[in-house]
Amino acid sequence: MISPKYHFASDNTSGICPEAWQALEEANQGFQPSYGDDEITREACETFRQFFETDCDVYFVFNGTAANSLSLASLTQSYNSIICANESHVETDECGAPEFFSHGAKLLCARAVQGKLDAADVERLITHRTDVHYPKPAALSLSQSTELGTVYTHAELQAVTSLAHRKGLSVHMDGARFFNALAGSKASAADITWRAGVDVLCCGGTKLGMAVTEAVVFFRRELGEAFAYRCKQAGQLCSKMRFISAQWLRLLRDETWRKHADHGNRLARLLAEKMTALDGVELLYPVQANACFLKLPDSIKDKLKAKGWRFYSFIGGGSRFMCSWKVTEDDVHQLVADAQ
Ligand SMILES: *Cc1c(COP(=O)(O)O)cnc(C)c1O
Repeated sequence: MISPKYHFASDNTSGICPEAWQALEEANQGFQPSYGDDEITREACETFRQFFETDCDVYFVFNGTAANSLSLASLTQSYNSIICANESHVETDECGAPEFFSHGAKLLCARAVQGKLDAADVERLITHRTDVHYPKPAALSLSQSTELGTVYTHAELQAVTSLAHRKGLSVHMDGARFFNALAGSKASAADITWRAGVDVLCCGGTKLGMAVTEAVVFFRRELGEAFAYRCKQAGQLCSKMRFISAQWLRLLRDETWRKHADHGNRLARLLAEKMTALDGVELLYPVQANACFLKLPDSIKDKLKAKGWRFYSFIGGGSRFMCSWKVTEDDVHQLVADAQ
């Protein structure tokens, strides 16, 4: 039996990056106040404020589903609706958590083009009903980078966020792969978030290389007023918070986040280039972050599977290959050789 190879199946099949591991080790000294009342957590939150060049509020939770659903619950009442893309993680992969934590807010799925919300369809969903029988739209959720590995340009982002704000909706960004989007952009973290109209960002740590953490960043602080209570009630307040904070502190320092995100993005481009050189292989979406979606002939799929490669075929209508910090150039060449 050939052993399975999970390298490209997801960015969370990788382990913890050396910098995060070292930060865990260094934080493992003596006694510290618990539940986030420690010096490392204070410093990590301050580092976030410098990183985003604004006085934002920052909370750490264990995973993306909690980050998304608890922050969306902060933006909505039970009678509201949340507009998101058809393929969005909040719609397809969170087991109804946004609806559950908001006590019933309804997700309204808008048409998306290559994973990105279509502004005209968003407007249609916001305006086609205004009566009391229909859940009143209160939030817009978008993913950056998207579930299909694409990245909103500044103009595209501005178009949907300004529409949302004009209609009185708040804007939520699912940034499970935020750093991959940021690394591929010339703009600053501030430019592609609050300066582009994002009110709350779920900032992904786990897929970047950390252990069990996402940061929820409220750029409009009043929206996060009760967030600490939501986290605690949902079982998302870490008692030994310093281990989460220490990883963030380390990854945000010296642009370590950029090193890992750039690496994943570069390998996804390499994988796309090498695989599309093979007969019958087509690239489904532009590679703008660390994902590569391919349409593969059955013969190649079978060959890869026989060699042990694991990859998802249920997202975006093709075969998805994710590149994390841990994947190497050799891994890409091996995959391509096995497909040949
Ligand atoms: C992975 C991912 C998440 C987070 O999922 P968890 O498994 O709950 O950590 C959120 N949004 C997107 C787009 C993702 O790909």
